Amino acid sequence: MVFAHDTQHSLVDAARLVNTAEVHPDSLASVAELDALVDEFGLTGSRTHSDEELQAVRSLRLVLKEAWSAPEDRAVAMVNKILADAGAIPQLIKHDQWDYHLHATSPAAPLDVRIAVEVAMALVDVIREKQLDRLRTCAADDCSAVLVDLSKNRSKLFCDTGNCANRTHVAAYRARKSAAAS
Ligand SMILES: [Zn+2]
Ligand SMILES: [Zn+2]
Repeated sequence: MVFAHDTQHSLVDAARLVNTAEVHPDSLASVAELDALVDEFGLTGSRTHSDEELQAVRSLRLVLKEAWSAPEDRAVAMVNKILADAGAIPQLIKHDQWDYHLHATSPAAPLDVRIAVEVAMALVDVIREKQLDRLRTCAADDCSAVLVDLSKNRSKLFCDTGNCANRTHVAAYRARKSAAAS
């Protein structure tokens, strides 16, 4: 395993969240879609189910996407700002089916703050381990979705939003074929 289990989980969720803005139409456009995402991520804690909560999580996507392109120093500044703004206090917690893992916000903190801090805590690990290059943008020409490469040999190139790998291979095959024909 490249990172601790909860770190990997948080990174994959963060990529899923960022990528809701990279598909057309945007797949985080309603409170119902937010509810489904929160469920899927297994997030606990308070919810308001309001439009304000939805907008806050939507805006968070652009902030988090920085971690996929920013140089180390900028990623560090972003992580430190999120943790400081939230007054984050890391605590080991055990709940539901999960064994001890870190929570750094209270369950009463707003949803977007809880998500931001969870991702920031995961990025602390990534940056300390000098693994920021595992956060990549999809290799398909027409795709700007992000991915987390958790493979041993750092071989993951394409996102999980569609069939970017397939599409790219088919395009390369066609290009080779037409080059061979001419
Ligand atoms: Zn938890
Ligand atoms: Zn893609």
